[in-house]
This record gives sequence, C-alpha cells and structure tokens, in this order.
Amino acid sequence: MRPAAYAVLNLEAVRHNLKVVRRHAPDAKIMAVVKANAYGHGLLRIAEAAKEVDGFGVARMEEAIRLREAGFKQRIVLLEGFTCEDELQASQDYQLEAVIHCFEQIELLEQAPATKKIAVWLKLDTGMNRLGFKKPDFAIAHQRLKACRGVNPEINLITHLANADDKTDSKTLAQIQLFKETVDDFDGECSIANSAGLLAWQEALTDWVRPGLMLYGISPFPEQTGVELGLKPVMSLYSKLIAVKQVNPGETVGYSGTWVCEKPTRLGVVAIGYGDGYPRYAKTGTPVMVNGQRVSLIGRVSMDMITVDLNSQPDAKMGDTVTLWGEGLPVEEIALCSDTIPYTLVCGITQRVQLVEQ
Ligand SMILES: *Cc1c(COP(=O)(O)O)cnc(C)c1O
Repeated sequence: MRPAAYAVLNLEAVRHNLKVVRRHAPDAKIMAVVKANAYGHGLLRIAEAAKEVDGFGVARMEEAIRLREAGFKQRIVLLEGFTCEDELQASQDYQLEAVIHCFEQIELLEQAPATKKIAVWLKLDTGMNRLGFKKPDFAIAHQRLKACRGVNPEINLITHLANADDKTDSKTLAQIQLFKETVDDFDGECSIANSAGLLAWQEALTDWVRPGLMLYGISPFPEQTGVELGLKPVMSLYSKLIAVKQVNPGETVGYSGTWVCEKPTRLGVVAIGYGDGYPRYAKTGTPVMVNGQRVSLIGRVSMDMITVDLNSQPDAKMGDTVTLWGEGLPVEEIALCSDTIPYTLVCGITQRVQLVEQ
C-alpha cells in the first residue's frame, strides 16, 4: 500500500550536487549545511550521502549531537554558537566547533575551565546585521579569544552574505571586500560563501564554502532552477488521485468558492495539502504533474487535499500518481507560484509525509 503522501529521496543526486560544488570551488573545503533536518530531507541520511565533505554546518546543538552520536567524525560547526555554560560544555564534550558572534560568548569562554580546547569561528558582521561583530570590535574579540586557554589557537574567520542570490546587487562585493580587509591582519581559515555565493561570486571563494540549498539540487536564484545549474533534485514529493469527477459551468470548487467553473471540467482531487507542507498559498495555475503530465492546480489548497484540472488528461483515474515537486517539476517553480522560496517548501514537509530512499 502506497502512503497518500510521500517524498522520495535520491541520494545519488546529493553526491552529484557535491561534484557541482567541487567544480565551482575546486580548492575549497566543503562544510555541508544540514540544519533543519537537512532542509527537510533527513539529517542522518543526507550526512551519510555527503560524508566525504570536510565538515557539517548545523544551526542547533541537538542537530550536532545527533550527528556525533550517529558516529560522524567530521568537523561540525554550530553556526549560531552556544548561549550558555551548558551548551559550551556540550560543545567541548562532543568536539563541536562554535561560531563566536558576541562578547557574551567570549565571557563564557574566559570563565570556562580550560580542560578541553574548543575550535572557534569568529564571525564578522559585514552587513547582514544578524550575527557577528562589527569591524571595530573584531580585533578586540580576536585578541580576547587568543588569550583564552580553552580556545584552539587556530581561529577561523567567517561571515555571511545577505544578498548573494541577486547577481546584480553590489552589496555582495562590498561585504566580501569588508571581510577580506578586516581579516587580512589575522591568520586562520576563512569562509564566506553559501550556495549563491559559491555559484555566482568568484570573490567569495575562500578556504571553506558552506553550501546548503544546492546540495539538495535546488537553485538559490529566483530566475534559474537547479536543473539549469546542472544540479539534480534530491526530494520528489508525490501523492495520488483519490477522486475524479465532472464539474459544470457556474459551480465553484473548494473553500470560499474562489475557483468558478467556466466550462465543463474534469476535476481531480489529490491527497495532499498544507497538512503535509504543500503551500497554502499556491495559486490557481500552479503546475502539478499527473502521470508525468503537467496540469493546473485550481481553487484553494486544503489541509489534506488539492484539486486539479484534468481536462487535458482524459485517462487519469483514481490511484494515479501525482508529483507535487521534484523530478520533472522544479520546486523552484512551485515556490514562485506560492510567493515563497524553495527553502520553505522542502523544510516545511510535515511528519505525516513518509520519506523513502530511492
Ligand atoms: C544556512 C546557512 C548556509 C547555507 O545557505 P544556503 O543558501 O542554503 O546555501 C551557509 N551559512 C550559514 C551561516 C547559514 O546559516
């Protein structure tokens, strides 16, 4: 029995996408970003598929611990660092590396017993204005870290790009330049580029690159799909038709009757909805594939169902396979039709969607 909604994960595609990373950044070490359950794809299976990388980047302590407890020996970087003594202790116990972005963290390091050394990544805020030290504080922060006996003397240097997905935005070069001129005074390995940085900005290639989205075969650029960039989608989301019926002119379909039938229409009902993570704001006209052929979503997305126009598919019947995104239907397109970004779609797959490996 096939589940109503399931996602097939193509792990060979992860290895392919890593090759694309290598092609763009042949000399860089790779920190595969696997936060948020590897962007909804499953942390451990993606880490296993990408295990030849030099390190993993995660957002949360729990993610890092899961990786260590599963036996991964690579470097693991907590991209948000730690916020209290316990987390610092856990970072040491599990040999995690921490991004250091504020003086409170440095105080914790200064007060910690220097039993085990922790590797750190000192973060410069070059304009994202989220985490990181501003330039005038950077040297002071660096000096204080150097003086901590519990800190590995090799201090890595990191920043994050805010607008790298816009290839015409001059802010990116300004960020890169500010980073390079600030870190010039220090040794230690540097890291600037996320997926968009490493695909579009040569200048952002330094010792380490930090691809996330592109590992999953998805493009960070609104005007291009992953397939167009030579990537292969890892996740394909499927469901099935659970009803096929006729609706007549003047009738409406779905909540609030937003879709009004103008000509006799074969309507398909698909067993997937926002309860599975299919976007509630997908508009009428959003592409859906039935038996490999594109049809259009019509009416509102419900919790458990969507409705599609099957006039072009006279043979479609109950039980037929429906693709919501992935192989043959880029998730980037669905994101555009839903006024969102592909990150939110893959991250937003819910518990009831069964993940299966291809
Ligand atoms: C999420 C994240 C990345 C990966 O970004 P993508 O756009 O998915 O490639 C890299 N660096 C940091 C600090 C991040 O938070």
